[in-house]
Order: sequence, then C-alpha cells, then structure tokens
Amino acid sequence: MAQKKFTLQEKDMPRQWYNIQADLPEPLPPYLHPATKQPLGPADLAPLFPMELIKQEVSQERYIDIPEEVQEVYYLWRPTTLYRAYALEKALDTPAKIFYKYEGSSPPGSHKPNTAVAQAYYNKKEGVKRIATETGAGQWGSSLAFACKLFDIECKVYMVRVSYNQKPYRRIMMETWGAKCVPSPSPDTKAGRDMLAKDPDCPGSLGLAISEAVEDAFGREDTKYSLGSVLNHVLMHQTIIGQEAMKQMEMAGYYPDIIVGCVGGGSNFAGMFLPFVKDKIKGKKKDLRIVCVEPESCPTLTKGLYAYDYGDVAGMAPIAKMFTLGHTFMPPPVHAGGLRYHGMAPIVCHLHKLGFVEARAVPQVATFEAGVTFARTEGIISAPETNHAIRATIDEALKCKQEGKSRVILLAHSGHGHFDMAAYESYLSGKLQDYAYPEALVKEALKSLPQIPA
Ligand SMILES: *Cc1c(COP(=O)(O)O)cnc(C)c1O
Repeated sequence: MAQKKFTLQEKDMPRQWYNIQADLPEPLPPYLHPATKQPLGPADLAPLFPMELIKQEVSQERYIDIPEEVQEVYYLWRPTTLYRAYALEKALDTPAKIFYKYEGSSPPGSHKPNTAVAQAYYNKKEGVKRIATETGAGQWGSSLAFACKLFDIECKVYMVRVSYNQKPYRRIMMETWGAKCVPSPSPDTKAGRDMLAKDPDCPGSLGLAISEAVEDAFGREDTKYSLGSVLNHVLMHQTIIGQEAMKQMEMAGYYPDIIVGCVGGGSNFAGMFLPFVKDKIKGKKKDLRIVCVEPESCPTLTKGLYAYDYGDVAGMAPIAKMFTLGHTFMPPPVHAGGLRYHGMAPIVCHLHKLGFVEARAVPQVATFEAGVTFARTEGIISAPETNHAIRATIDEALKCKQEGKSRVILLAHSGHGHFDMAAYESYLSGKLQDYAYPEALVKEALKSLPQIPA
C-alpha cells in the first residue's frame, strides 16, 4: 500500500528557526516611526515588545535556537503530519501529486501557537506579567490565551464586538484557558471610551481593537503587546513548518514544483515557503513556483500598491513598506476573517516585489466549494482561510490534468474550521455570496497613505 502519512519523531523536530534576512538578495526596507516618519529604533519598540523579540525582528543571523522550554510545548502537537492527498487526487482524476502539511492539530487548531508560545516564553523570561492583544474572529486570541496560561502570564484580549457577539465559542475557549476577553470598543481604554461615546452600538474593527491593546500595553508597566502575524519575528517562528515539511518531502522522495498557501498577514504561508525560497534564491531550484492566495475582496498582493503605510487603522502602529490597500480600508465581511487585512508581511511583499513569489485572488464561494471537496475526500473540515489555498491547489491540479503533467504540489494547510460551521451552513444552503473587488473603497483608502519625506 502507498504511504499516506509522513511523520517525524520528536527527536527529528528542528531545533532552530530559519531567518530569511540572512539570505535576502536585497535587505528589507526599514520600519518608520508613525509620528516622526524616521527609521524606527529598538527604543521605540521597547514599551511594546520584550527585547529578545525586538532583536529577532532585525537579526541577520541565519538560524536562531528554539529555547528548550518552547520545544517542550511544541511537543504537544509537533512535529505535525505531512499527508499525501490520494483521495483528492483520485476525485480530481489528476496526474499531480498533492501533499499537505496540516497545522490544525495544535490545541487551538491552527499554526498560530507556533509563535504565540515563543512570544509568551520571551515575555515571561523578561519578567512581563501581563500581555494585551486584539483578535478578530478569535483564532489569534485563543492561541495567545493558550500560550500565556502555559507560562503563567495574564492575558487580556480585545475582541472585535461583532465577532464577540456572533462567535461566542472562540471567546469561551480563551476563557477556558484563563484569559480575559472583552468586546472592543470597550470602556477599559480611552480609544474604546471615545468610540462608545460617539456610537454606543459600534460593531468594532480590528484596527480599533489594535489601538485598544496598544494603549493598554503603553499604559501599564507590567504589560506588553503581542502580534500574531506580519512581523519578521512572527514569520521566523513559523519556519518550523517549512523545515519539517522539507524533511518530510525528502522522506516521500519528492521536491515540490509548486507550493500553495493562503495569506492574510502572511505568517503561516511564509513559515512554509521561506526554507524553500532559499533554494530558489540560491539558484538550486530556480523554477519552483510559490503561490500566495488571497480573497478577491481583499486583494492586497494582486491589486495593492507597494508603498509605506501604517500597520493599523488608527495610524498608531509602525509604518512598513508593503503592498497595501490603504490602512483605512474596511474589507467586506468574508468568512475568512484572518485574511481581512489591508497590508501584508514586509518579507512576503519584498519577495513578491523581487519576483520570487506569485499571487492570485479567489472569490469566496469557490473557496467553500473547494473546502467541501477536500472534506469529502481527505476528511478534514478546513478553516475558511485555508479553503483559499485548497481552491488554488485544486486549480493547479486540474491544470496538470489538462496539460498531462505530473507536478508535485505542496499545500500549506493552516487550520481546521470546526468553529466555522455557520459559514459552511451558509454555503451548503446556497446562501453564501461573493463580494466583488471594492475598487472605489480601495481608491479612497489609498489617499490615506502617509507622506514620507524623501
Ligand atoms: C490567522 C489565520 C490565517 C491568516 O494569517 P496568516 O498570518 O496569513 O497566516 C490563515 N489561516 C488560519 C487557519 C488562521 O487562523
């Protein structure tokens, strides 16, 4: 019988994270201060992040050791399994060989604890007692709540009010892990109180929740802030995925021709492709294709501008050079909440600009069609975000069939969709809709880009 699973032992787990900054053909553009618009220094970030993470953000070392305490927690679910998608291949009648690396086996159900655990550890080590963060649909909040509990740190999560009301189960997960979760806008911060005074029924937004969490961290000596995607150190923590996958593809006897993943802030997919893109940069695997998949309604890489922009809606977060739809852009309410971000990780943008990774945008209904096909063949019910990557994987496999080519496709599977049954119900009952690219809104939002002195 053909081998379905490629599994590593704990002893085979990578001991270091891979830092792409050591191998970039050109260095990353610097972050800028949101007020002065001058390059950002470590001192500017010190109130928000522990020093070790600030160092990792700008480090040029190729490998950084994973602390033993972090490895021990990783062992709860790592190394994760690489599967060969025989049933999907058969259903598509494709000569393509499809593999997927499944990150949904972590306790919170996605890749996000790979960085949450590392961040909680460094905060603990530097004496931080409490961490504040924001969450949209609750995937990041629940991952950080989980990690904080393991390192005995208090966790406060500002959760966008609409999600808080509509998706109570992620909140209850956070509370089960001992975190405090409040709907944003909340009366606990000035940003929240100002908004509530203006509009007591304000549904909230991710940008406002970020503003609340940042204000909380700035305002308390014992508290730091934490971000679940976008930043260089977050992407680096996720490279454990790609390093494991490399070993597992070797066990399977293949090197991928195409790697596919979904991108919101860019962390899960970068975690997968960064160890492979090194081979492409070095000329070892020049024709490797790396495909970033995003929603048609929030098409950052395919329709955005490569420019300096704020990381948050309020303009309080650092300014980064990235593909952006404008920091005031409010994406339509697609179910893939994790992909509704106006910007993208600077590392992913830089590599896209240099031509090492490609991007494509897909409409919502087609992603659920792909997700249901995956569930009915491989069994796993995937997160709405992941369904974007599955859509593009199926399309590539069908192209292989048309062209009679037997390419090897590696899918980065970022998490399960067990809390997204309402979205699946909407699709199955034929009620799910597509949102066209909101061109006029983007045009308007791009007027809000900061003016950067030459
Ligand atoms: C948060 C999330 C994403 C999007 O975030 P990235 O930083 O782009 O990885 C994708 N998939 C799942 C399951 C998520 O929870």
